[in-house]
Amino acid sequence: MKGMEETVEIATPKRTKEIIQRHGFSFKKSLGQNFLIDQNILNKIVNAADLDESKGALEIGPGIGALTERLARVAGPVTAVEIDQRLLPILGEVMQPYPNVRVHHGDVLKLDLAELFRTDFGTVDKVSVVANLPYYVTTPIMMKLLEEKLPVDSIVVMIQKEVAERMAAAPGSKDYGSLSIAVQYYSMPELVCIVPPTVFIPQPNVESAVIKLKVREQPPVEVPDEAHFFEVVQASFAQRRKTISNNLKARFFTKENREQADQLLEQAGIQPSRRGETLSLQEYATLSTVMWEAGVRAAL
Ligand code: SAM
Repeated sequence: MKGMEETVEIATPKRTKEIIQRHGFSFKKSLGQNFLIDQNILNKIVNAADLDESKGALEIGPGIGALTERLARVAGPVTAVEIDQRLLPILGEVMQPYPNVRVHHGDVLKLDLAELFRTDFGTVDKVSVVANLPYYVTTPIMMKLLEEKLPVDSIVVMIQKEVAERMAAAPGSKDYGSLSIAVQYYSMPELVCIVPPTVFIPQPNVESAVIKLKVREQPPVEVPDEAHFFEVVQASFAQRRKTISNNLKARFFTKENREQADQLLEQAGIQPSRRGETLSLQEYATLSTVMWEAGVRAAL
């Protein structure tokens, strides 16, 4: 939205403190409440989302609205979902100059996001998710956004640095695991910047990072059944120090048919002595296809 230049920014330590004191707000650690107080970082997040008035933005956890107001200035419709009812009057006040912002009260994990997209983003072709996420639920929120195959163009989020590194990790690195594969199956991750604890109040006791996931229109590999593919991946990382052969045997094979595990691995072109962390996305896709075609399913 244009014409908002005269509005005072929230994200300064002074103004944030003034707002929370005036409303008698106290931070809840259990809700991951670490509010951003740094203009520079807010700019980096919003710039990475590459928004304009033709695009929508979904924010999860607006807090007192520091990021929301930035989004409101550059995007078309902005929808923010906040779990903490105590923040609603503050958001009502801060968002008053921005008619393009809607605030919903609720837990994003319980929300029907497909329905929310239909009602709030019916007028735009592209929607980005932009958020400083509550760290205690980062992975479930990210997996919900990716697995529900919503019409999301990109996801730009502040998360714990260690989780961002796992999402973006390449095969062979210590951070590479089932989270890297799940995220990279649905999107192309890019680390935007590392962020110190000093840009938040209160300060979290971990380092953070901004990560951008460009959501893929199609996964980069073909698999016969997504649930089976992810089961194979999960099983392969069950015990990181074990070979892929031993991990698969534990999950998919009985004593009687254990030999078959190594035969199928060889058929997929994978040495049974390798470890799960060395396999690429394509190798997992091939392995899952070979196992699926041989009728191998996880033991219940
Ligand atoms: N966006 C604000 C900022 O950057 O200053 C606040 C970010 S703070 C890290 C996370 C926010 O998410 C808090 O406002 C918290 O109340 C909210 N939150 C926590 N769990 C949530 C959930 N399950 N659904 C929606 N919001 C949630």
